Amino acid sequence: MPVFARAGVAFERGEGCWLISDKGERYLDFASGVAVNSLGHAHPHLVEALKRQAETLWHVSNLYTVPEAERLAGRLADASFADVVFFCNSGAEALEASIKLARKHFHAKGEPERYRLITFEGAFHGRTLATIAAGGQQKYLEGFGPKVEGFDQVPFGDLDALKAAIGPETAGVLVEPLQGEGGVRSLPPSTLRAIREICDAEGLLLVVDEVQTGVGRTGTLFAYEHSGIRPDVMAIAKGIGGGFPMGACLATREAADGMTAGVHGSTFGGNPLAMAVGNAVLDVVLAPGFLEHVRRMGLLLKQKLAGVADGHSDVVAEVRGEGLLTGLRCKVPNTEVVAALRDAKLLTVGAGDNVVRLIPPLIVTEAELDEAMERLDRGLSAVEAKLPASARSAAE
Ligand SMILES: *Cc1c(COP(=O)(O)O)cnc(C)c1O
Repeated sequence: MPVFARAGVAFERGEGCWLISDKGERYLDFASGVAVNSLGHAHPHLVEALKRQAETLWHVSNLYTVPEAERLAGRLADASFADVVFFCNSGAEALEASIKLARKHFHAKGEPERYRLITFEGAFHGRTLATIAAGGQQKYLEGFGPKVEGFDQVPFGDLDALKAAIGPETAGVLVEPLQGEGGVRSLPPSTLRAIREICDAEGLLLVVDEVQTGVGRTGTLFAYEHSGIRPDVMAIAKGIGGGFPMGACLATREAADGMTAGVHGSTFGGNPLAMAVGNAVLDVVLAPGFLEHVRRMGLLLKQKLAGVADGHSDVVAEVRGEGLLTGLRCKVPNTEVVAALRDAKLLTVGAGDNVVRLIPPLIVTEAELDEAMERLDRGLSAVEAKLPASARSAAE
Protein backbone atom coordinates (compact mmCIF):
# COMPACT_ATOMS: atom_id res chain seq x y z
CA MET A 1 0.00 0.00 0.00
CA PRO A 2 1.37 3.41 -0.87
CA VAL A 3 1.41 4.62 2.74
CA PHE A 4 5.09 5.57 2.58
CA ALA A 5 6.62 8.31 0.44
CA ARG A 6 9.71 6.24 -0.30
CA ALA A 7 12.85 7.56 -1.96
CA GLY A 8 13.90 5.79 -5.17
CA VAL A 9 17.14 4.45 -3.75
CA ALA A 10 17.54 0.77 -2.71
CA PHE A 11 20.33 -0.69 -0.60
CA GLU A 12 22.03 -4.01 -1.09
CA ARG A 13 24.19 -4.26 1.98
CA GLY A 14 25.57 -2.33 4.92
CA GLU A 15 28.81 -2.13 6.89
CA GLY A 16 28.91 -0.18 10.14
CA CYS A 17 27.73 3.38 9.42
CA TRP A 18 27.65 2.80 5.65
CA LEU A 19 24.97 1.61 3.26
CA ILE A 20 25.82 0.45 -0.26
CA SER A 21 23.13 0.89 -2.91
CA ASP A 22 22.28 -1.55 -5.70
CA LYS A 23 24.27 0.79 -7.97
CA GLY A 24 27.33 0.42 -5.77
CA GLU A 25 27.13 3.94 -4.30
CA ARG A 26 28.22 4.39 -0.68
CA TYR A 27 25.93 6.39 1.59
CA LEU A 28 26.83 7.53 5.09
CA ASP A 29 23.90 6.44 7.22
CA PHE A 30 22.83 9.13 9.69
CA ALA A 31 19.26 7.82 9.62
CA SER A 32 19.97 4.40 11.17
CA GLY A 33 16.64 3.03 9.96
CA VAL A 34 15.01 5.73 12.13
CA ALA A 35 17.14 5.22 15.25
CA VAL A 36 16.97 1.43 14.97
CA ASN A 37 20.43 0.34 13.77
CA SER A 38 22.03 1.31 17.07
CA LEU A 39 25.18 -0.70 16.30
CA GLY A 40 25.20 0.06 12.58
CA HIS A 41 24.88 -2.56 9.86
CA ALA A 42 26.18 -6.13 9.99
CA HIS A 43 27.76 -5.74 13.42
CA PRO A 44 29.77 -8.99 13.83
CA HIS A 45 28.55 -9.64 17.38
CA LEU A 46 24.88 -9.30 16.36
CA VAL A 47 25.36 -11.36 13.19
CA GLU A 48 26.97 -14.12 15.21
CA ALA A 49 24.22 -14.07 17.88
CA LEU A 50 21.44 -14.25 15.29
CA LYS A 51 23.16 -16.99 13.27
CA ARG A 52 23.77 -19.09 16.36
CA GLN A 53 20.15 -18.71 17.48
CA ALA A 54 18.83 -19.38 13.96
CA GLU A 55 20.55 -22.75 13.96
CA THR A 56 19.16 -23.64 17.41
CA LEU A 57 15.57 -22.48 17.94
CA TRP A 58 13.38 -19.81 16.33
CA HIS A 59 10.07 -19.74 18.13
CA VAL A 60 8.28 -21.56 20.90
CA SER A 61 5.60 -18.96 21.94
CA ASN A 62 4.90 -17.82 25.47
CA LEU A 63 3.39 -21.16 26.40
CA TYR A 64 6.89 -22.07 27.60
CA THR A 65 9.83 -20.54 29.40
CA VAL A 66 12.25 -18.70 27.09
CA PRO A 67 15.60 -18.56 28.92
CA GLU A 68 17.02 -15.84 26.66
CA ALA A 69 13.96 -13.69 27.44
CA GLU A 70 14.36 -14.25 31.19
CA ARG A 71 18.00 -13.24 30.84
CA LEU A 72 17.27 -10.11 28.79
CA ALA A 73 14.47 -9.06 31.15
CA GLY A 74 16.80 -9.49 34.13
CA ARG A 75 19.53 -7.43 32.49
CA LEU A 76 17.11 -4.63 31.51
CA ALA A 77 15.71 -4.57 35.04
CA ASP A 78 19.20 -4.52 36.60
CA ALA A 79 20.18 -1.59 34.37
CA SER A 80 17.01 0.45 35.00
CA PHE A 81 14.29 1.35 37.52
CA ALA A 82 12.22 -1.65 36.47
CA ASP A 83 11.40 -4.97 38.15
CA VAL A 84 9.39 -6.65 35.39
CA VAL A 85 9.39 -6.67 31.59
CA PHE A 86 6.84 -7.55 28.89
CA PHE A 87 8.28 -8.25 25.42
CA CYS A 88 6.53 -7.36 22.18
CA ASN A 89 7.54 -6.58 18.61
CA SER A 90 7.38 -2.82 18.08
CA GLY A 91 7.25 0.57 19.71
CA ALA A 92 3.50 0.97 19.32
CA GLU A 93 2.93 -2.38 21.02
CA ALA A 94 5.24 -1.38 23.86
CA LEU A 95 3.09 1.75 24.30
CA GLU A 96 -0.13 -0.25 24.09
CA ALA A 97 1.17 -2.50 26.85
CA SER A 98 2.17 0.57 28.91
CA ILE A 99 -1.26 2.19 28.48
CA LYS A 100 -3.08 -1.04 29.36
CA LEU A 101 -0.79 -1.56 32.35
CA ALA A 102 -1.53 1.93 33.70
CA ARG A 103 -5.29 1.41 33.37
CA LYS A 104 -5.14 -2.07 34.89
CA HIS A 105 -3.06 -0.83 37.82
CA PHE A 106 -5.88 1.43 38.99
CA HIS A 107 -8.51 -1.16 38.15
CA ALA A 108 -6.70 -3.64 40.41
CA LYS A 109 -6.59 -0.97 43.15
CA GLY A 110 -10.35 -0.61 43.01
CA GLU A 111 -10.23 2.70 41.14
CA PRO A 112 -11.38 1.66 37.64
CA GLU A 113 -12.52 5.23 36.94
CA ARG A 114 -8.86 6.24 36.73
CA TYR A 115 -8.00 5.36 33.15
CA ARG A 116 -6.95 8.63 31.50
CA LEU A 117 -3.40 9.59 30.58
CA ILE A 118 -2.09 13.10 30.07
CA THR A 119 0.17 13.49 27.03
CA PHE A 120 2.04 16.36 25.38
CA GLU A 121 1.52 18.22 22.12
CA GLY A 122 3.96 17.12 19.43
CA ALA A 123 4.14 13.63 20.92
CA PHE A 124 4.51 10.51 18.83
CA HIS A 125 3.65 7.16 20.37
CA GLY A 126 2.94 4.96 17.32
CA ARG A 127 0.25 4.22 14.76
CA THR A 128 -2.23 1.88 16.45
CA LEU A 129 -5.67 3.25 17.32
CA ALA A 130 -4.74 3.91 20.96
CA THR A 131 -1.30 5.33 20.23
CA ILE A 132 -2.56 7.81 17.59
CA ALA A 133 -5.06 8.98 20.21
CA ALA A 134 -2.23 9.30 22.74
CA GLY A 135 -0.09 11.22 20.24
CA GLY A 136 -3.04 13.45 19.46
CA GLN A 137 -1.79 14.54 16.03
CA GLN A 138 -4.71 15.32 13.75
CA LYS A 139 -2.84 14.19 10.59
CA TYR A 140 -2.61 10.64 12.03
CA LEU A 141 -6.14 10.57 13.53
CA GLU A 142 -8.00 11.88 10.46
CA GLY A 143 -10.34 9.34 8.87
CA PHE A 144 -9.96 6.56 11.38
CA GLY A 145 -13.25 6.94 13.20
CA PRO A 146 -13.80 7.94 16.80
CA LYS A 147 -10.60 8.66 18.66
CA VAL A 148 -9.85 6.15 21.43
CA GLU A 149 -11.04 7.69 24.68
CA GLY A 150 -8.78 8.45 27.59
CA PHE A 151 -6.07 10.89 26.52
CA ASP A 152 -5.82 14.54 27.52
CA GLN A 153 -3.20 16.62 25.78
CA VAL A 154 -1.41 19.68 27.16
CA PRO A 155 1.15 22.02 25.53
CA PHE A 156 4.71 20.66 25.45
CA GLY A 157 6.40 21.06 28.84
CA ASP A 158 3.57 23.20 30.27
CA LEU A 159 3.43 22.23 33.96
CA ASP A 160 0.52 24.52 34.84
CA ALA A 161 -1.58 23.04 32.05
CA LEU A 162 -0.53 19.56 33.23
CA LYS A 163 -1.70 20.27 36.79
CA ALA A 164 -4.94 21.77 35.51
CA ALA A 165 -5.61 18.67 33.38
CA ILE A 166 -5.44 16.27 36.34
CA GLY A 167 -8.86 15.05 37.44
CA PRO A 168 -10.49 12.15 39.28
CA GLU A 169 -10.13 10.00 36.14
CA THR A 170 -6.40 10.60 35.63
CA ALA A 171 -4.18 7.53 35.87
CA GLY A 172 -0.87 8.98 34.82
CA VAL A 173 1.33 11.06 32.56
CA LEU A 174 2.85 9.71 29.34
CA VAL A 175 5.89 11.60 28.08
CA GLU A 176 8.93 11.33 25.79
CA PRO A 177 11.98 12.76 27.64
CA LEU A 178 13.03 14.04 24.22
CA GLN A 179 10.51 14.17 21.38
CA GLY A 180 12.01 12.49 18.33
CA GLU A 181 9.32 12.57 15.61
CA GLY A 182 8.04 15.78 17.19
CA GLY A 183 11.22 17.59 16.14
CA VAL A 184 14.06 16.64 18.52
CA ARG A 185 12.57 18.73 21.31
CA SER A 186 13.95 17.92 24.74
CA LEU A 187 12.10 18.35 27.96
CA PRO A 188 14.46 20.14 30.38
CA PRO A 189 15.56 17.72 33.15
CA SER A 190 14.00 20.09 35.70
CA THR A 191 10.62 19.73 33.93
CA LEU A 192 10.80 15.93 34.01
CA ARG A 193 11.66 16.15 37.73
CA ALA A 194 8.67 18.44 38.28
CA ILE A 195 6.41 15.97 36.44
CA ARG A 196 7.71 13.20 38.70
CA GLU A 197 6.88 15.31 41.76
CA ILE A 198 3.40 16.07 40.48
CA CYS A 199 2.81 12.35 39.83
CA ASP A 200 4.00 11.51 43.35
CA ALA A 201 1.80 14.18 44.92
CA GLU A 202 -1.28 13.08 42.96
CA GLY A 203 -0.67 9.33 43.11
CA LEU A 204 -0.25 9.05 39.33
CA LEU A 205 1.95 6.75 37.25
CA LEU A 206 4.76 8.31 35.24
CA VAL A 207 5.08 6.49 31.91
CA VAL A 208 8.06 7.39 29.72
CA ASP A 209 8.21 6.62 26.00
CA GLU A 210 11.87 5.83 25.30
CA VAL A 211 11.23 3.97 22.06
CA GLN A 212 13.56 6.41 20.28
CA THR A 213 15.70 7.75 23.13
CA GLY A 214 16.38 4.44 24.89
CA VAL A 215 19.34 2.05 24.75
CA GLY A 216 22.11 4.61 24.65
CA ARG A 217 20.84 7.04 22.01
CA THR A 218 21.19 10.14 24.20
CA GLY A 219 24.45 9.10 25.89
CA THR A 220 22.95 7.36 28.92
CA LEU A 221 21.31 3.94 28.72
CA PHE A 222 17.93 5.65 29.11
CA ALA A 223 17.19 9.36 28.66
CA TYR A 224 15.27 9.63 31.95
CA GLU A 225 18.63 9.21 33.72
CA HIS A 226 19.63 12.76 32.69
CA SER A 227 17.04 14.11 35.12
CA GLY A 228 17.83 11.72 37.97
CA ILE A 229 14.22 10.54 38.26
CA ARG A 230 12.79 7.02 38.10
CA PRO A 231 9.65 6.46 36.05
CA ASP A 232 7.06 3.79 36.92
CA VAL A 233 6.67 2.46 33.39
CA MET A 234 8.78 2.69 30.23
CA ALA A 235 8.30 1.67 26.61
CA ILE A 236 11.36 0.82 24.52
CA ALA A 237 11.81 -0.65 21.02
CA LYS A 238 13.89 0.67 18.08
CA GLY A 239 17.49 0.51 19.36
CA ILE A 240 17.15 -2.56 21.60
CA GLY A 241 16.81 -4.84 18.56
CA GLY A 242 19.58 -3.20 16.54
CA GLY A 243 17.44 -3.92 13.45
CA PHE A 244 15.62 -7.03 14.63
CA PRO A 245 11.98 -6.08 15.33
CA MET A 246 11.29 -6.05 19.06
CA GLY A 247 9.87 -3.88 21.81
CA ALA A 248 9.40 -4.04 25.55
CA CYS A 249 7.36 -2.52 28.34
CA LEU A 250 9.33 -2.18 31.58
CA ALA A 251 7.69 -1.41 34.91
CA THR A 252 8.05 -1.50 38.65
CA ARG A 253 6.41 -4.49 40.32
CA GLU A 254 3.90 -2.17 41.96
CA ALA A 255 2.87 -0.40 38.76
CA ALA A 256 2.46 -3.77 37.04
CA ASP A 257 0.40 -5.31 39.84
CA GLY A 258 -2.67 -5.60 37.60
CA MET A 259 -0.79 -7.53 34.90
CA THR A 260 -1.68 -11.06 35.97
CA ALA A 261 -1.84 -14.28 33.92
CA GLY A 262 -4.05 -13.89 30.87
CA VAL A 263 -4.67 -10.13 30.93
CA HIS A 264 -2.27 -9.30 28.10
CA GLY A 265 -0.15 -11.19 25.59
CA SER A 266 1.70 -11.47 22.32
CA THR A 267 2.35 -14.50 20.12
CA PHE A 268 5.74 -13.35 18.88
CA GLY A 269 6.83 -11.25 21.88
CA GLY A 270 10.01 -12.58 23.48
CA ASN A 271 10.77 -14.77 20.46
CA PRO A 272 14.20 -16.47 20.87
CA LEU A 273 15.61 -14.81 17.73
CA ALA A 274 14.72 -11.33 19.00
CA MET A 275 15.93 -12.14 22.50
CA ALA A 276 19.31 -13.40 21.25
CA VAL A 277 19.80 -10.14 19.35
CA GLY A 278 18.56 -7.99 22.24
CA ASN A 279 21.05 -9.63 24.58
CA ALA A 280 23.82 -9.15 22.01
CA VAL A 281 22.95 -5.44 21.71
CA LEU A 282 23.20 -5.09 25.49
CA ASP A 283 26.56 -6.93 25.50
CA VAL A 284 27.94 -4.07 23.40
CA VAL A 285 26.04 -1.09 24.83
CA LEU A 286 26.75 -2.07 28.46
CA ALA A 287 30.44 -2.81 27.84
CA PRO A 288 32.75 -0.45 29.75
CA GLY A 289 33.36 2.79 27.84
CA PHE A 290 30.61 2.37 25.24
CA LEU A 291 28.19 4.98 26.58
CA GLU A 292 31.14 7.28 27.21
CA HIS A 293 31.95 6.93 23.50
CA VAL A 294 28.35 7.89 22.65
CA ARG A 295 28.54 10.96 24.89
CA ARG A 296 31.86 12.02 23.38
CA MET A 297 30.61 11.57 19.79
CA GLY A 298 27.39 13.38 20.73
CA LEU A 299 29.26 16.42 21.99
CA LEU A 300 31.52 16.46 18.94
CA LEU A 301 28.56 16.10 16.57
CA LYS A 302 26.74 19.01 18.19
CA GLN A 303 29.84 21.24 18.01
CA LYS A 304 30.51 20.30 14.41
CA LEU A 305 26.85 20.82 13.46
CA ALA A 306 26.93 24.27 15.03
CA GLY A 307 29.97 25.09 12.88
CA VAL A 308 28.36 23.91 9.65
CA ALA A 309 25.04 25.56 10.55
CA ASP A 310 26.84 28.90 11.05
CA GLY A 311 27.97 28.81 7.45
CA HIS A 312 24.45 28.06 6.21
CA SER A 313 22.24 30.40 8.17
CA ASP A 314 19.93 30.76 5.15
CA VAL A 315 18.88 27.16 5.55
CA VAL A 316 19.50 26.18 9.17
CA ALA A 317 17.75 28.02 12.00
CA GLU A 318 18.86 25.96 14.97
CA VAL A 319 20.85 22.90 16.11
CA ARG A 320 19.09 20.67 18.65
CA GLY A 321 19.50 17.39 20.44
CA GLU A 322 21.09 15.21 23.04
CA GLY A 323 23.78 12.60 22.50
CA LEU A 324 23.43 11.07 19.04
CA LEU A 325 19.83 12.19 18.57
CA THR A 326 20.39 15.56 16.91
CA GLY A 327 18.35 17.80 14.65
CA LEU A 328 18.58 20.85 12.45
CA ARG A 329 15.54 23.09 12.38
CA CYS A 330 15.33 24.40 8.84
CA LYS A 331 14.20 27.59 7.14
CA VAL A 332 13.26 25.76 3.93
CA PRO A 333 11.04 22.64 3.82
CA ASN A 334 12.91 19.84 5.62
CA THR A 335 11.92 17.40 2.85
CA GLU A 336 14.05 19.43 0.40
CA VAL A 337 16.99 19.33 2.79
CA VAL A 338 16.70 15.56 3.36
CA ALA A 339 16.60 15.06 -0.44
CA ALA A 340 19.62 17.33 -1.05
CA LEU A 341 21.60 15.54 1.67
CA ARG A 342 20.66 12.19 0.16
CA ASP A 343 22.00 13.45 -3.18
CA ALA A 344 25.22 14.29 -1.28
CA LYS A 345 25.16 10.63 -0.06
CA LEU A 346 24.28 11.48 3.52
CA LEU A 347 21.12 9.82 4.87
CA THR A 348 19.01 11.77 7.40
CA VAL A 349 15.36 11.71 8.54
CA GLY A 350 12.74 14.44 8.65
CA ALA A 351 10.83 15.24 11.86
CA GLY A 352 8.11 17.62 13.03
CA ASP A 353 8.76 21.33 13.52
CA ASN A 354 10.56 21.35 10.13
CA VAL A 355 13.54 19.49 11.56
CA VAL A 356 16.06 17.20 9.85
CA ARG A 357 17.28 14.49 12.23
CA LEU A 358 20.87 13.24 12.23
CA ILE A 359 20.82 9.96 14.16
CA PRO A 360 23.96 7.96 13.32
CA PRO A 361 24.66 4.48 14.66
CA LEU A 362 26.09 4.73 18.17
CA ILE A 363 29.36 3.19 16.92
CA VAL A 364 30.06 6.23 14.71
CA THR A 365 33.68 7.43 14.74
CA GLU A 366 35.04 10.99 14.69
CA ALA A 367 36.34 10.43 11.14
CA GLU A 368 32.79 9.50 10.09
CA LEU A 369 31.40 12.60 11.80
CA ASP A 370 33.88 14.69 9.80
CA GLU A 371 32.92 12.93 6.57
CA ALA A 372 29.25 13.56 7.40
CA MET A 373 29.95 17.27 7.97
CA GLU A 374 31.59 17.56 4.54
CA ARG A 375 28.56 15.95 2.93
CA LEU A 376 26.23 18.12 5.02
CA ASP A 377 28.10 21.22 3.90
CA ARG A 378 27.80 20.15 0.26
CA GLY A 379 24.11 19.29 0.59
CA LEU A 380 23.24 22.57 2.31
CA SER A 381 25.15 24.51 -0.35
CA ALA A 382 23.06 22.77 -3.01
CA VAL A 383 19.87 23.82 -1.19
CA GLU A 384 21.15 27.41 -0.99
CA ALA A 385 22.02 27.48 -4.67
CA LYS A 386 18.33 26.87 -5.43
CA LEU A 387 17.08 29.68 -3.17
CA PRO A 388 15.94 32.88 -4.90
CA ALA A 389 18.61 35.58 -4.51
CA SER A 390 16.25 37.60 -2.29
CA ALA A 391 16.17 34.79 0.27
CA ARG A 392 19.95 34.63 0.65
CA SER A 393 21.39 36.55 3.54
CA ALA A 394 23.14 39.86 3.00
CA ALA A 395 26.25 38.36 4.56
CA GLU A 396 26.87 36.23 1.48
C1 LIG B 1 9.03 5.10 16.59
C2 LIG B 1 8.35 5.49 17.84
C3 LIG B 1 7.19 4.83 18.29
C4 LIG B 1 6.50 3.75 17.48
O1 LIG B 1 7.32 2.66 17.23
P1 LIG B 1 6.92 1.59 16.10
O2 LIG B 1 7.95 0.52 16.26
O3 LIG B 1 6.98 2.30 14.78
O4 LIG B 1 5.55 1.12 16.41
C5 LIG B 1 6.65 5.21 19.50
N1 LIG B 1 7.22 6.18 20.24
C6 LIG B 1 8.32 6.83 19.84
C7 LIG B 1 8.90 7.88 20.72
C8 LIG B 1 8.93 6.52 18.63
O5 LIG B 1 10.00 7.19 18.22
